[in-house]
Amino acid sequence: MDEQKKYSTTSEGSDAQNHNGPATAQGPKKMNRRQALKYIGAGSGLVLLAGGTGFYGYRRSLRISSAEADRIKNVRFVIAGGSIGGITVAARLLRAVPEADVTIIEPRTRHHYQPGYTLVAAGVYDRSDVLFDQESLFLPGMKWVRDSVEAFEPEKNRVRTHSGDHIEYDYLVVGLGVETNPGSIEGFSEAIASDHAGSIYDLENAAKYRHLARSFQSGEAVFTYPAGFVKCGGAPQKITWLSEDLWRSEGTRENINVHFHTNRPSLFPVVPKVDAAITPLIEARGVHNHYRQTLRAIDVSTRTAIFEEQMADGSSRELRRKYDLLHPVPGFRTPGPLRDGPLTAPGMGGQMEVDRETLLHKRFDNVFGVGDCAATGAPKTAATIRKQAPAVADNLIDLALDRRPSHLYDGTSGCPLLTRYGRCMMFEFDFNGELVNEWIYQSTKETRIWWDFKVHGLKQLYRHVMMNGYV
Ligand SMILES: Cc1cc2nc3c(=O)[nH]c(=O)nc-3n(C[C@H](O)[C@H](O)[C@H](O)COP(=O)(O)OP(=O)(O)OC[C@H]3O[C@@H](n4cnc5c(N)ncnc54)[C@H](O)[C@@H]3O)c2cc1C
Repeated sequence: MDEQKKYSTTSEGSDAQNHNGPATAQGPKKMNRRQALKYIGAGSGLVLLAGGTGFYGYRRSLRISSAEADRIKNVRFVIAGGSIGGITVAARLLRAVPEADVTIIEPRTRHHYQPGYTLVAAGVYDRSDVLFDQESLFLPGMKWVRDSVEAFEPEKNRVRTHSGDHIEYDYLVVGLGVETNPGSIEGFSEAIASDHAGSIYDLENAAKYRHLARSFQSGEAVFTYPAGFVKCGGAPQKITWLSEDLWRSEGTRENINVHFHTNRPSLFPVVPKVDAAITPLIEARGVHNHYRQTLRAIDVSTRTAIFEEQMADGSSRELRRKYDLLHPVPGFRTPGPLRDGPLTAPGMGGQMEVDRETLLHKRFDNVFGVGDCAATGAPKTAATIRKQAPAVADNLIDLALDRRPSHLYDGTSGCPLLTRYGRCMMFEFDFNGELVNEWIYQSTKETRIWWDFKVHGLKQLYRHVMMNGYV
């Protein structure tokens, strides 16, 4: 059969090929201008329809009657912590009840867009890309108390601030986040101050790491993942893989051994499908993954990282690895007023004790938690807050109107897993680690489009959509 005959026979023989238009010996027929316009029109229509439906749903979700809004306008809502959790709840509340009495207690004058730290360390963002003037985040109607909470006094419906004031509330929302705990690793502070270690978990060190990685030519590069709850559980892996890719593109990779030591049993155990997809890709790049190993101490004088490895029989043993470049991630803890105060409970590691669906405190029925500080079992990410904040705002309104909380957080979170420069696996998942909307994200594929979205889109979503209450 000659080539011409072969192509014309198959093109007639199957519906799929007919659907794509007839093929020729010159290859598949190109789309003409009319067809292209038709597809663009259909695509734009779908986007508009999805956007319109989303916005209609959003408007409906905000709708309360003017009589109800009137009943709420003198209720005192106090929000402790003015970051993505606190501001998004406040903004959403004010979208529903523009006259609501909303006070935010936040000590910082500069807001940090923490999801951008990884990109600062990777040399994609500058420091200025992740800093916002705190004042610019407040919508009309938000009262800013520039102070910090010293103690929660829920029996008295008030908080005591650092400057000694008492702020009373009818409803309290706590969004204090979590902080790194340098004391969780012996020698951490000394190591991080040396010329051989940097970490993405604060802005100064993210910028420092960028220079260390770029000038690193050869030797042992050691990355770690801690025990306990972790802020953005994907971030320690992302910086490992981006660094590996950087050295590959700079031609130094063959002189560098890349080690990733993690406390966990695999690379991304919270989402088994992603774990199964990512592990062979990373192994093929020659990264040495070491599981169930926790960094306990760093000996700076000999540049040695000291790990505790959990063995299958329940015992543990000590392991040592020399490093030339170290990216240590310490453990995390909640801020003092939470971990030492009445809003936590034994066994929660200082996190706030809330119902994971309503986000209402389990013992104080006018106190909510949002974001990283709340013990929901969900990942500690801004993506989680995108789903939690509307639930908190709606449930605040419900309680203020003597109704039961009606908006349940369903456990959905998301992660842009940057696998290398220009590539990202984007996925959403639920409390059970099952992928959500897999077909939209193509969740287990590394794609360029989601890299671009992470770099250019997510910051806008965070700053202009979430923080303005359009969620
Ligand atoms: C390196 C890194 C990478 C990340 N990558 C991603 C990502 O790719 N995607 C993603 O979705 N998320 C990511 N995150 C996680 C995300 O930044 C956090 O989940 C999010 O910032 C949590 O918001 P929050 O409002 O709960 O707490 P935070 O943003 O931590 O804010 C807590 C606020 O409380 C204030 N505060 C603290 N103590 C007090 C006090 N006593 N009184 C009053 N106020 C107080 C603080 O000043 C701060 O403003 C990343 C984080 C890091 C560090």
